[in-house]
Amino acid sequence: MTAIRYPDADYAGRIERARSSMADRNIDVLLISVGSDLPYLTGYEAMPLERLTMAVVTANDATLVVPLLEAPRVIDRGVFEILPWAETDDPIEIVRRLMGSAGQAAIGAQTWARFLVQLQRSLPLVGFTDATAVMSGLRIVKDADEIDLLRRAGAATDRVVSRLRSIRFSGTTEAALARHVMEMTVEEGHDVATFHIVAAGPNAASPHHEPGERVIAPGDCVVVDFGGRLGGYCSDTTRTFHVGEPGAEYAEAFAALQAAQMAGTAAAGPGVAAQDVDRASRRVLVDAGWGEWFIHRTGHGIGLDGHEDPYLVEGNDSVLEPGMAFSVEPGVYMPGRWGMRIEDILVCTADGRESLNNSPRELAIVE
Ligand code: ZN
Ligand code: ZN
Repeated sequence: MTAIRYPDADYAGRIERARSSMADRNIDVLLISVGSDLPYLTGYEAMPLERLTMAVVTANDATLVVPLLEAPRVIDRGVFEILPWAETDDPIEIVRRLMGSAGQAAIGAQTWARFLVQLQRSLPLVGFTDATAVMSGLRIVKDADEIDLLRRAGAATDRVVSRLRSIRFSGTTEAALARHVMEMTVEEGHDVATFHIVAAGPNAASPHHEPGERVIAPGDCVVVDFGGRLGGYCSDTTRTFHVGEPGAEYAEAFAALQAAQMAGTAAAGPGVAAQDVDRASRRVLVDAGWGEWFIHRTGHGIGLDGHEDPYLVEGNDSVLEPGMAFSVEPGVYMPGRWGMRIEDILVCTADGRESLNNSPRELAIVE
């Protein structure tokens, strides 16, 4: 795990908003362990290890219980009391004490099950619920500093795409190209590259293909989907390349895909239901005869996690608000033959949307 340095943020304000959300839900204590909820509240990311790290937030107190040997990594932001525990201490007992007489606890969704089981055994009268309702409600709307980090990460991926457009694809393997994408992702300003899909020819029909030893050849389509993290915030963009000019069928499908991606983008804005962005993109592909081969939702929220609320999917009628960030990424996947996807990250604004990815979306013809 590469350590991410989280920026200064209004951590005190975040805790206050968490408390007000807890009060609305009759939750007495919030318990946040590994995962992105912890850095959102504290500016500290816990190692996903067997030693318990847990933020314990009650109406009056905020304490970060942390293994003694990890304590030097914690930056004191003046919001949490930092409570290190030594190797022979019982961290569950420490959390139990901090919880006082709490009757209802909300626990972070990514907390290891063993810790929840131990807490439930130690506190048989306490009700435990998933803290997602509290935390997602806070994290889903980004503040200006968060959007700026997302914007910088998006611009860095755009620079990688423009470098990709001028290199030779033919003769290299998917895996080698993926390694190059990772290197460029860091060179262009990310703290860390987190994923890199390079899928050539028929492999492109698998949306999350693992890059392998296939040698890219003339006539191949190549889907490149990658991202990293900058100040904790994620990037995620997809562009589709073609080695030499495509055939008529592929070109026709790509034109429909590009229209679908534009329609989804144009539909996104404040007051619009998340599912309506999906519908706008999907309708274009259905009308053009490719709908059957668009096999996933249109997009996902993005922030400290690569995939988070809001999900742009049929059935999600929650409404987009200014400050929400999400992908619009329709694709067409023809099993055994070819695939294609275009993905941008958008931020909902007061009067529409801003695209954080602005590299050309046309099919890039490469050698
Ligand atoms: Zn992606
Ligand atoms: Zn995505």
